[in-house]
Amino acid sequence: MTETHRVPLRPANLAPPAPAYPWPEPFTSALFLAVDVDAEAAWTSKDPAHAERLVTMSYGGFEARVGTPKLLELFRQLGLKATFFTTGWAVDAHPAMAEAILRDGHEIGHHGYHHLLPDPGVAHLEEELDRGFEAIKRRLGIVPRGYRAPYGEFTAALQTALVARGIVYTSSFRDDVRPYRHLLSDGSRGPIELPVTPSYDDWMHGLSARFSPRPIFPREHVLSLWRDELDETRDWGALATTVLHPQCSGRPMRLRLLREFLTYARDHKDLWIATGSEIADHFLRHETA
Ligand SMILES: [Zn+2]
Repeated sequence: MTETHRVPLRPANLAPPAPAYPWPEPFTSALFLAVDVDAEAAWTSKDPAHAERLVTMSYGGFEARVGTPKLLELFRQLGLKATFFTTGWAVDAHPAMAEAILRDGHEIGHHGYHHLLPDPGVAHLEEELDRGFEAIKRRLGIVPRGYRAPYGEFTAALQTALVARGIVYTSSFRDDVRPYRHLLSDGSRGPIELPVTPSYDDWMHGLSARFSPRPIFPREHVLSLWRDELDETRDWGALATTVLHPQCSGRPMRLRLLREFLTYARDHKDLWIATGSEIADHFLRHETA
C-alpha cells in the first residue's frame, strides 16, 4: 500500500498575505470579467499606415465578424455578464457588434476612440475621450461609467479629465489586488480603481502577428497560470481582473481554453464574477457605510 505525500499549498501557520476585502455575501473573492474591444484600432493606433495593410487590419475585423459573437455566445451559455471596454472607433465601424454586446445585457466601458496611447503631454488626450463618449452615446444611447486606458498607460492629466467627465471607475493600474480609490494630484477624490491582473491579458499568451510577434502558449500552460492566479486570489479574499481581447480569445483554440477556465471559476460559489459597475457600486456602498 502506498501513501501519497501531499504538500500543503501554504503552511498552516502563515496568515494570508493581504487582508480580506468585504465582498457582498456569500462571496469571499471576486473576478472582474472584462473584455477590451479594440477592433482595427489596436493596429492603426500603433501605425496609421496599417490601415493600408489589409491582412494586419483583418485581425481587427475578426473581432466583429467572429470573435465578439463567440465570446457573447460563451457568456450566454455560462450565464455570465462582463464589461466590454470598447473603442469609439469600433462602435462606429461595427455598430451591429456593439449593439449585440448591449443587447446581451453586458456593460459598455470607454476605451478611447482611436485607441491612442495616453502618454505624458500628448495633445489628443481630451479629444480621444470626448470622441469616445460621443460615439457610444450616439450609437448606443449610453454614457459609460468605466474606463480602461488603451495600452494600459495613465497620466495625472488623464485622471483629472476622466473625473471631470463623470467616469466612476477605471481599470488599468497594477498596484493592488483589491479595489481602491485614487487621489488626484491636488488631493481631491479620483476614480475607483479595479486593478488589472497582468497574467489575465490573453494577448500575452495567445496572439502572434507580423507586427505583434510573440510565442503562443498552449492551453495547459495558460490554464495552469490562470487557475493558480485564481486559487491564490480566492485564498487572499482578493480581486482578479481579466483583459480579454475577442481577436485573441475569440479564436477556436483560445475560446476552448477560456470556456474551461470560466467553467472552473464559476464552479466556486464563493467567487463573485461581476461587471466593473457592479464591483464599483459595491465599493461605493461600502465606502459610504
Ligand atoms: Zn485595448
